[in-house]
Amino acid sequence: MAAHGRVFNFSAGPAMLPLEVLEQTQRDTLNFNGSGMSVMEMSHRSKAFEGIIKQAEADLRTLLSIPDNYKVLFVQGGASTQFAAIPLNFTQEGDTVDYIVTGAWSKKAYEEAAKFGLNANVVAKGDNKSVPARDSWKLSPGAKYVHYCDNETIGGVEFQGAPDVGDVPLIADMSSNFLSKPVDVSKYAMIYAGAQKNVGPSGVVIAIVREDLLGKARPSCPTMLNYAIAAENGSMYNTPPCWPIYVCGLVFQHLLKLGGLAGARERNVKKAQLLYDTIAGSNGFYFSPVEESVRSKMNVPFTIPSKPELEKAFVAEATAAQLLELKGHRSVGGMRASIYNAMPHEGVEALTKFMTEFQAKNA
Ligand code: PMP
Repeated sequence: MAAHGRVFNFSAGPAMLPLEVLEQTQRDTLNFNGSGMSVMEMSHRSKAFEGIIKQAEADLRTLLSIPDNYKVLFVQGGASTQFAAIPLNFTQEGDTVDYIVTGAWSKKAYEEAAKFGLNANVVAKGDNKSVPARDSWKLSPGAKYVHYCDNETIGGVEFQGAPDVGDVPLIADMSSNFLSKPVDVSKYAMIYAGAQKNVGPSGVVIAIVREDLLGKARPSCPTMLNYAIAAENGSMYNTPPCWPIYVCGLVFQHLLKLGGLAGARERNVKKAQLLYDTIAGSNGFYFSPVEESVRSKMNVPFTIPSKPELEKAFVAEATAAQLLELKGHRSVGGMRASIYNAMPHEGVEALTKFMTEFQAKNA
């Protein structure tokens, strides 16, 4: 049994956090840094919390080399709330906006935007297994922004870099691959990510927004969804999710210690390679439905195409072997292994060993 009786948790989110970070939260629980209280009990207006949020922002800026003309915001409501906040902040009624749809999450983002009196267009639509060829995209002249999802958590389709959309502001949902690799922030108007996959607990969303886009929200935009108001108030217009922000800060420090995002990418590429190689080397027993060039390094769906009836047994036996949460999303079935930053290499080794043994028993 692993330390503390912990398992390898392949959940799509909330997901594993680094053990070192969890142990730090444990040490801080009763008395954070001599304050005599837990971060859970602390006024968000206190000096101690001010230090936490400022340090978290500074470390995130270092990790991603965020240019000075971008605001870093800690906001609420999950990534799903940003699906509505984005059109409310960056458009007026009647404006044109473009959505690239490569899976369930970008589709949801589009459907939410379509509620706000916009000329909202799906300018490219994938089949949940690939990214449509760039020359097939029908970008709209004069669009206020192009929105896409950098990593589709359910289908496992990941862009391999910022898509080229010319001069139109580019907005990315990076909920499930944020901080998994270096990203050139300057290519984006906005990047946002729910924390609960690569970064921390649920309850906080990190938004990185280029300053010149702020201050143009609709008059009807709710105060709590207005990014300019969040920016003016240092993400503290109201009580922020203090404890999740503190844990995110610990994760940022942990990543910096381990070589920043280049280090994270290197570890993630190795883990994903091992898993995809195991699938490819299974003589077709296991199958990855995603086109090779866009396979996600974070979420790896796979099936047992010749004997789908075995998939249930696979998940049950894996669970018994301390490999948890491998059941595919309810909308697609099969299996899915989410192998975010905090999944150790040994976790993927244990999974691939299990896969090989399961195949030997059942092929
Ligand atoms: N976008 C992506 C890519 C996601 O994976 C998720 C959550 N699984 C969401 C958005 C929605 O996030 P939340 O639950 O924080 O609203």
